Amino acid sequence: MLAIVIPCYNEEEALPLSLPVLLSLLDEMTADGLVAASSYILCSNDGSRDATWAVLRRFHAADSRVHAISLAHNRGHQYALLAGLAEVAGQCDAAISIDADLQDDPRAMIEMVRLYRAGSDIVYGVRSSRKTDTMFKRTTAHAFYKFQRVMGLETVYDHADYRLMSNFALELLGQYRESNIFLRGIVPQIGLETSVVTYERAARVAGESKYPLAKMLALSIDGITSFSARPMRWIFFTGLITFLLTLVVAVYVLVSYFFSSHINPGWASMMLSVWGLGSLILISIGITGEYIGKIFVEVKARPRYAIKERI
Ligand code: UDP
Ligand code: MG
Repeated sequence: MLAIVIPCYNEEEALPLSLPVLLSLLDEMTADGLVAASSYILCSNDGSRDATWAVLRRFHAADSRVHAISLAHNRGHQYALLAGLAEVAGQCDAAISIDADLQDDPRAMIEMVRLYRAGSDIVYGVRSSRKTDTMFKRTTAHAFYKFQRVMGLETVYDHADYRLMSNFALELLGQYRESNIFLRGIVPQIGLETSVVTYERAARVAGESKYPLAKMLALSIDGITSFSARPMRWIFFTGLITFLLTLVVAVYVLVSYFFSSHINPGWASMMLSVWGLGSLILISIGITGEYIGKIFVEVKARPRYAIKERI
């Protein structure tokens, strides 16, 4: 039994186009014996301000496989998706999350289900090209992936939130109780059998992107700060490097002080204290940061391990 989970924010234009496509794909997969006839779609309405909810009610009335939940207000894509996944956990064998705009090729689901049936618990949808994204979107998106990696956040390159998760993976996801949710970082941490399906990313079927640059930047910063304490370690290393430089500067200052005839009074002591104290302060902040990093990890109370099998 497959559940297709769709986060929707102001998608009144896209849903009437994408839901029929997904429903006929379910029909096709059912006919091929890939999924059960009880498979369904769950839309997670993220506090839309347009007629999205009315559109969903209409579809639900026409086809009982279309279900929906509605969040009380707009919480953002990650939370809408998480709410949808939590809703279907225990109510399906596997769930596939996909955006409402069908930029991610729905036909890749067929391969995802095949890989699930062959034993994968998580199947990532990875874009083989971004021809249809604007040049700006493409370069900024790639820059974000690289930046995240440098900052210590491991994600799957060119994978957004189009993926299949088995019910077992959904249950493990449910054990992550943190409030700052960045699914692309958490899912790889779950572990289990994973595989990848590649597809071409298309243009939006209708409506416009709900992810302008500001939201992308916020998502990226959220991703890094909710996953990695590495930026704090960098403060420590900067302090260490500054301290080494201080030793070089000290030699230069002392040599000038003793052997140069025209240096300003007070210059040597100022130089030494600025460099010396500066590096000490950076090192101290870095050490404090290491402890804060530990607190950060403890506070998240993530599951420390997950048992996959017992015999
Ligand atoms: N979305 C959401 N809440 C938001 C913003 C977006 O649920 O606050 C949904 C949106 O309806 C879509 C998906 O997240 O199904 C991805 O958004 P979009 O296609 O606009 O992003 P892009 O593909 O341009 O990065
Ligand atoms: Mg999109």
